[in-house]
Amino acid sequence: MVEPEPDHSAPDGSFCAEHHDRPAAFTCPRCGNYVCIFCWHAIAARCEACLTRDPAAAAPTIPWERGQGSLPARFFGTLQMAFRPVLTAPAFAQSELGPARSFFLCSAVPLAALAGVIPLTKTLLFGSLGSVTVQHHASGGAIALDVVLAMLAQIAWFALDLLALALPFNSLVRAYAAEPRRAAAMRVLFYRFWLSPAAQLLFFALLWMLPPAATPDAAPPFAEGVYFLRFFLNALLFVAMRATARLACGIGPLLSYAVVVVPFLLWNMIQPFIALGIQRLGLGG
Ligand SMILES: [Zn+2]
Ligand SMILES: [Zn+2]
Repeated sequence: MVEPEPDHSAPDGSFCAEHHDRPAAFTCPRCGNYVCIFCWHAIAARCEACLTRDPAAAAPTIPWERGQGSLPARFFGTLQMAFRPVLTAPAFAQSELGPARSFFLCSAVPLAALAGVIPLTKTLLFGSLGSVTVQHHASGGAIALDVVLAMLAQIAWFALDLLALALPFNSLVRAYAAEPRRAAAMRVLFYRFWLSPAAQLLFFALLWMLPPAATPDAAPPFAEGVYFLRFFLNALLFVAMRATARLACGIGPLLSYAVVVVPFLLWNMIQPFIALGIQRLGLGG
């Protein structure tokens, strides 16, 4: 059974506690004030003042940071939160980076290693419908070494990727957010960056599983779905960063878009150079 939505409406004829000339639309369950639609955060069910005062209290605790529960339950619970990026964003308004960093090492790093196998391994050719053919009569040892090198190259690639995103995002958040709220910028990246290698891993793994294309120039059937999935996972990272800037760091509605759009544009611009660097190292496929 679906739980009934709690009623947060304001009584008729009441006015916003912040804007005395605007009619109130909601009652904040935290402070009891009546607020107008501009002062209300629907997903967090908080007024602007309460959210600014204590953002972390407006979201469920990150499972990874909970004292109880098994490690796998906390790990997968934290991965799952990525699919509710706005509801969970206020929880990043804490100062500890330790747990965020350990989650990053357990999530983004192994996914990055796996994501490198299909595109960067040169001794194995991944065909359609899950087929694999060995190239140049490579020996078992040569293949194993090649796979390890592909994984390391991909980890290096994503490390540069993360840096290209984190440096501008972090400095923009520092410029616009109050001191105690700034750590949220790195916390959201450590907790959500796994979406980027996961997007690449799923992209190549699913293309590998698809049936062959009708002609060599055509895309294989269902390829649009695979492209969309990759876009969707990357979009979840974008939404998480934007919601964190707004709800956890307390940056204004429009400015919170700017502090995310600028790093994403720089990130996209830098991609070809990272790819070129990887190719120069002789590791690219
Ligand atoms: Zn309130
Ligand atoms: Zn108001």
